[in-house]
Amino acid sequence: MILQTRSEGLILLRPGIERTIATYVAENEIGLEAGGIFIGSYRGPHIEIGSCTTPLPRDVRKPTLFDRSDPGHHAAALEAWKESSGTDTYVGEWHTHPVDDPVPSDLDLRTWRTIMRRVSDPLIFLIAGRRSIWCGRGRGGELAALTVIDAA
Ligand SMILES: [Zn+2]
Repeated sequence: MILQTRSEGLILLRPGIERTIATYVAENEIGLEAGGIFIGSYRGPHIEIGSCTTPLPRDVRKPTLFDRSDPGHHAAALEAWKESSGTDTYVGEWHTHPVDDPVPSDLDLRTWRTIMRRVSDPLIFLIAGRRSIWCGRGRGGELAALTVIDAA
């Protein structure tokens, strides 16, 4: 999948990521929110997302809350950073909402702003629902919604 904002670079999600996230919006999983982080690389104005983490044992999964509290997510990003000699890194996060067409909650917006204060590079925030996704690119506390330009 390829996404873009009106003025910034492209966001490329490798196909395996969409398949992985899709398993968490299936009927047997969507009753509890799920999530993880995106690991990828910056290529000029573009971001290529190569992999993602999925819920780990110490995360909190509730019907309308996902709290990414397991240290394994951060560890995975650190491992990718080392293995790629510093090109692959944390580039954002994803979680699910138990609705058809998700939009960010107030808590999501507050959480993302906190993350944006710690990371100066642009970040991708994605929410997956049963039917569609909401995806935005955030930087410096500003969030711009992304449009899917190629669903393949
Ligand atoms: Zn949310």
